[in-house]
Amino acid sequence: MSLEMIPAARPIIGEDERVAVDRVLASGMVAQGPEVKAFEAEFGQHLVQGRECVAVNSGTSGLHLGLLAAGIGPGDEVIVPSFTFAATGNSVALTGATPVFADIEPDFFCLDPASVRASVTERTRAVMPVHLYGHPANMPALQEIADEHGLLVFEDAAQAHGASLHGQKVGSFGTFGMFSLYPTKNMTSGEGGMVSCADGEIARRVRLLRNQGMERQYANELVGLNNRMTDIHAAIGRVQLTKVDAWTRQRQDNAAFLNAHLEGVTTPPVAEGAVHVYHQYTIRIPGAAGAERDRVVTALREEHGVGSGVYYPIPNHRLESLAPYAPGLELPETERAAAEVISLPVHPSLTPEHLERIVTAVNTVVVKAGA
Ligand SMILES: *Cc1c(COP(=O)(O)O)cnc(C)c1O
Repeated sequence: MSLEMIPAARPIIGEDERVAVDRVLASGMVAQGPEVKAFEAEFGQHLVQGRECVAVNSGTSGLHLGLLAAGIGPGDEVIVPSFTFAATGNSVALTGATPVFADIEPDFFCLDPASVRASVTERTRAVMPVHLYGHPANMPALQEIADEHGLLVFEDAAQAHGASLHGQKVGSFGTFGMFSLYPTKNMTSGEGGMVSCADGEIARRVRLLRNQGMERQYANELVGLNNRMTDIHAAIGRVQLTKVDAWTRQRQDNAAFLNAHLEGVTTPPVAEGAVHVYHQYTIRIPGAAGAERDRVVTALREEHGVGSGVYYPIPNHRLESLAPYAPGLELPETERAAAEVISLPVHPSLTPEHLERIVTAVNTVVVKAGA
């Protein structure tokens, strides 16, 4: 195949990041230090309305420590979506609590408040929506349910740096919010995560938990882990933070082009008052069974050189690891989405030629599929 392949995702890491890493290496001090501290402050100011942030070594660590800091543990239930990356449910399970899987709203792929309400029991302690693909979850409706039942709200904002709802940035709604800094996310630190905290006490506990439970050396207050971020990673993240807004605008422009030109598929709508940051641009092939959808994915790649992804083909409540928490559970919208979705390239490195090729590819392959 002679066509240059358009990758589904492409991290942008350049000279500025190399210079920043060099600065840290030349200093001889590479573990958690001044770069991490600066990154936390800058991230908080820029992305979560000035909230106190704590950097950790991955998004998954961020969820885990946020849950522990909020006191989640054995005997508790936390309501999460099943249509997400497994880290969401895993982090709940690793605290000893039970992940309870609720269904999604078909338009926006995020937790359905009605399904959340139906999942509340006397053991429910919290609800943890995911701002999936970069689209904010329905926070006002979820907060209302949480208020009614005395639940905490946590946010998995791994995919949603800069997304907002009615002018409020995601990650600033819940007791804590987590952002992933994995390379394919909207910005990266190599590996890493950022926990945005509602108050100083949560932030202090996350700081303790990431560092063996110590604030003062060898005066361990809590049983903790080593989930620290290094200054090398923080230096990369600080550079990326200065670029993420421009990249997001490019993602939004790319999405607008795809919305305007794709045919025969369901393009992703945006809820009223929401700002979508298009971590993924996810279409549905209406009525596709998984196998037919997979044929489209293959044809896009083989016949047009267009990479794409399926996030996520197996709902979390069907995974061997997490299914034991959900015996007999049926989540119809989750199952349908898992069979129908395809995420097309939307990343900021796409050229006009790439966008044209993606449109031609989808319009050709999907019409063929229907014929
Ligand atoms: C990426 C991701 C995570 C985990 O983040 P890592 O940095 O890879 O540990 C959690 N939840 C969702 C929805 C994600 O997409």
